[in-house]
Amino acid sequence: MTRSRSGGRIFGAFEVAELETDEQRRAAWLTFALIGAGPTGVEMAGQIAELTRQGVRGRYRNVDPAQVRIVLLDGAPRILPAFGERLSARAARQLQRLGVEIQTGAMVVGVDAEGIDVKGNTGEPQRLATMTKVWSAGVQASPLGKLLAERGGAELTRHGQVRVLPDCTVPSHPEVFVIGDLMALDSLPGLAEVALQSGLHAAAEIRRRLAGDSTPRKFQYRDLGSLAVISRFYAVGERGRAQVWGFPGWVVWLAVHLVFLTGFKNRAAALFSWIISFFGRSAYERTTTLQEVTARRALQQSPPPALDQSPQADQAERPS
Ligand SMILES: Cc1cc2nc3c(=O)[nH]c(=O)nc-3n(C[C@H](O)[C@H](O)[C@H](O)COP(=O)(O)OP(=O)(O)OC[C@H]3O[C@@H](n4cnc5c(N)ncnc54)[C@H](O)[C@@H]3O)c2cc1C
Repeated sequence: MTRSRSGGRIFGAFEVAELETDEQRRAAWLTFALIGAGPTGVEMAGQIAELTRQGVRGRYRNVDPAQVRIVLLDGAPRILPAFGERLSARAARQLQRLGVEIQTGAMVVGVDAEGIDVKGNTGEPQRLATMTKVWSAGVQASPLGKLLAERGGAELTRHGQVRVLPDCTVPSHPEVFVIGDLMALDSLPGLAEVALQSGLHAAAEIRRRLAGDSTPRKFQYRDLGSLAVISRFYAVGERGRAQVWGFPGWVVWLAVHLVFLTGFKNRAAALFSWIISFFGRSAYERTTTLQEVTARRALQQSPPPALDQSPQADQAERPS
């Protein structure tokens, strides 16, 4: 088993493919679909591609890395829709170099255990047989939003976020602040920085009120820019009109992550671990047990019923 559950599912898929005798089913085990081409989907596609090239080659008898398909799908006309067109095109080229298939204008309208249904701009949905799907097209907000809507009359977005006033309070409820991912304000993205800054804003508002000043202040988000790392030594990023890509982009990505870590010890530990993983070729965290494979094969004996929901791939973005 690997460090994480998603890592376990991906390695598990290779393990099952190794044992699979039916060609079509093996192909489905070796197809990875990423639904949503925002930063999360793009980063994940790049990681799976690199993993396939480095972590799979020579480790299996029946799995040929050339058979692995990594398909990145998005309903929007281009990947990384929140980034500028030029960066989006560069990111697409880098992913294609890594062997990732990109399907844009592709809405995923059905998901079940053995594949997905993809609707293009025209025609009937097409089936893509894939045992491993990664949903990177956004998350549903916490059920707490629904509670606020029921009890406090708050209005919700399609994703269950609470629409707030410019000072981050619920309309008619100045005593209730909604911040972070649950807050819907000015189409702000679901990012950690939005959560941090809106939290600081709410705290400052409360402090001012306690000091006797109850005039509401507008929350002003300071955009620090966006970064997406696509592969080892390749990232894209932008801040305002400034754009960076390739190796310089990767250096910026590295520096930003180090700066935002708290404490010298954490930074030194992260740097050490990155040096080993970026410059070495070994996947030392990887250990495989029978657990994942056994569970997968047991599930195959009694396949679960198809999911009846039809998730709509929205304008993919990091969970918002
Ligand atoms: C896969 C993934 C990758 C991401 N990558 C990035 C990235 O690279 N950069 C970036 O800026 N952002 C990223 N994000 C987004 C970022 O994680 C969120 O924007 C951020 O965590 C939002 O913070 P939050 O405090 O609003 O919500 P959360 O971090 O979700 O915290 C909410 C907390 O409230 C708890 N909670 C919920 N309901 C209740 C309740 N009723 N009672 C008590 N507790 C409750 C939850 O358990 C949770 O601990 C990523 C998100 C995901 C899912």
